[in-house]
Amino acid sequence: MAPEVLLPTSPVEAAAAFGDGAGVTVLAGGTIVMPELAYGQLAPGRVLLLAKSGLDQISRSGGTVTIGAAVPVAALVGGDEPLASAAAHVGDPEVRAQATVGGNLCAGPGSESPRGDLQAPLLALGARVRSTGAGGERVEPVEDFLAGSAGRLVLDVSYEIPEAAGYAAAWRPHAHHYTILAAACARSGGQTRVALTGAGPHGLRCPSVEQALAAGADAATAAAKVLDDVDPPDDALASAWYRKRILPTLVQRAIAVLGEAENG
Ligand SMILES: Cc1cc2nc3c(=O)[nH]c(=O)nc-3n(C[C@H](O)[C@H](O)[C@H](O)COP(=O)(O)OP(=O)(O)OC[C@H]3O[C@@H](n4cnc5c(N)ncnc54)[C@H](O)[C@@H]3O)c2cc1C
Repeated sequence: MAPEVLLPTSPVEAAAAFGDGAGVTVLAGGTIVMPELAYGQLAPGRVLLLAKSGLDQISRSGGTVTIGAAVPVAALVGGDEPLASAAAHVGDPEVRAQATVGGNLCAGPGSESPRGDLQAPLLALGARVRSTGAGGERVEPVEDFLAGSAGRLVLDVSYEIPEAAGYAAAWRPHAHHYTILAAACARSGGQTRVALTGAGPHGLRCPSVEQALAAGADAATAAAKVLDDVDPPDDALASAWYRKRILPTLVQRAIAVLGEAENG
């Protein structure tokens, strides 16, 4: 039976149509959902399309940036780091134009390669996620959202523009530039947050690296601590062994880029 299609025309209508999320599949850019529907991996009762939901706005107020869940990834390119560098390498121009920020945040781990390249930058920025679903609307840190808020409708993400930021990644040479592993860092209020994509089922923060930096360690010493924080997976792009070998170097590079941004 064909699913019921819900096409809200405002954020309020989107939240009402989503309700508690039971039986609803959200379709934003559809770069993940459409193939799953086409291959019969998903058979939803109701599909909530965000294309006309009005959740596609970016606003800036003081130093705070709020990005609607349906903003295309392409809109972040050339904007605030480290989001801009990560966005510039998501897929290819067609994917970036179609894929959304909310879909990237909610992308589960791919079976063959990491997804959710914006998650590490959002973690590094200390972003907050506003979502709705069972129990109503709530705002929570992005790490809490990634750890346990599946099944909610993301409305937007917000962060304060950092003092400086850095990003470094290893990509598989391919038309779609799949990211093998990426490190993002951002400094706000004198605190540096460091996070990774491709080192676990979703973006992960690196508390040991952050603590070492806060204690005054140099970039190389702090970056070496990253192996205390994560246990990277094998997948079709790279082995866990390879990821462990390159992780400290990537983290060190991201911290170096942050340092250059700060001094430049
Ligand atoms: C060729 C190709 C290359 C790709 N390369 C990359 C890459 O380099 N890096 C990368 O990170 N990803 C990549 N992807 C995966 C994907 O395009 C991105 O992760 C994208 O950002 C997903 O966004 P979307 O809007 O298309 O998500 P959708 O397909 O619409 O949804 C993805 C998931 O998120 C849920 N969802 C969507 N929006 C919301 C919301 N607002 N609230 C709650 N749940 C929601 C959906 O229900 C679904 O479970 C690639 C995909 C393709 C096809």
